[in-house]
Amino acid sequence: MALFYNFGLVDVLKKEYIENSYMIIEANYIKFIGDQAELSDYQLQKGIDLKGQTVMPGLFNLHIHALSTPIARPATLNVEDPSKFGIRGSVHLQQYLKSGVTFVRDMNGRKKAETGLKEAIRDNIVLGPEYYICGQALTMTGGHGSNTGQECDGIDGCRKAAREQLKRGVDFIKLIATGGVMSPGDNEHETQLDEEEMAAAIKEAHKVGKKTAAHAHGAEGIKNAIKAGIDSIEHGSYLDDEGIELMLKNNTALVPTLSVDYFLFRHGRQDVPQYAIDKAKRAEEAQIKSFLKAWEAGVMIGIGTDAGTPYNPHYGTYQEFVSMVDLGIKEIDVISAGTITSAKIAGVEKEQGSIEPGKLANFIVLKENPIQDIRALKNINMVYLKGNLVEIGNVEYLPHLD
Ligand SMILES: [Zn+2]
Repeated sequence: MALFYNFGLVDVLKKEYIENSYMIIEANYIKFIGDQAELSDYQLQKGIDLKGQTVMPGLFNLHIHALSTPIARPATLNVEDPSKFGIRGSVHLQQYLKSGVTFVRDMNGRKKAETGLKEAIRDNIVLGPEYYICGQALTMTGGHGSNTGQECDGIDGCRKAAREQLKRGVDFIKLIATGGVMSPGDNEHETQLDEEEMAAAIKEAHKVGKKTAAHAHGAEGIKNAIKAGIDSIEHGSYLDDEGIELMLKNNTALVPTLSVDYFLFRHGRQDVPQYAIDKAKRAEEAQIKSFLKAWEAGVMIGIGTDAGTPYNPHYGTYQEFVSMVDLGIKEIDVISAGTITSAKIAGVEKEQGSIEPGKLANFIVLKENPIQDIRALKNINMVYLKGNLVEIGNVEYLPHLD
């Protein structure tokens, strides 16, 4: 048992900052939270004084590529041996943890290395955050991500492909609804898997209580995925009014991944392929507009950075929070999006996403109050995963160019 006291608590459910809080951790779980005035002197002597600091739930990142290094051309990594992918991924996952992220959702596997990595974390061989995998993304023949994904066509083909991924023990199913930005030769406005194809795969995931996510940039592909019953739209660059209405009606979430363009334009202009720069430029303005419109309309929004794309580092999750605040969203609302709302989108809200009795003790301690300055998320003092203190050390890690 451990007792922490004298901290400000970010209550992401009530959207409040509660001073003079205390919390009791037992085994892997939060047992009690409350006002420290309730504590006896004896209890205080035994507790850990977090004077002046802030406690909040561990951050979520719903859209990452753990097995990819954020170099200019990540696709060049595909020639690597699968064993090396696992090692790479394990280093990256530790960067998440050390930067305060206790839950990640991996948006594509590579050569099945993600399965071994997930098992290695589960078996305590390596340290990592809660690691949700989709295995291979399902894409049409020749579609976006077909180099690492599983190609499938037609209702029967997509149903079978979803069943194959689920048989491998994946946590969710990812579908490709439109072309991409980083892939040569396709257009982000083109629709790819059809509504009926996606619906068949989504049905299989929902039958076993698992979530689904769709890569979608263009307006038509976004609407196809929503009508097919998808749980979250990833990117959503060219979301139109009809799409927003459909999202509200179907309770579909949006994970806007604003960090892709932020990091790409900041660092990567010289050596990133020109087609990717051109497409990203086109998409950036639209994506920000789509995000703000969806936010205003009340669409459920989650945090995801798409880390592993060029110059988009695995320790940079804070940037997605910062970008949203810089666009005028209130700090506490963005923090709720990146904790409890993201937990709901991933389907793990019963055990994660807020500081409440009965939930896993996945929390972070900050020296500054992120509700006053969101950049406080860059300075994580302590990270606790299932009640255990994580050794933070230095999270800087420069992508090395093979
Ligand atoms: Zn992605």
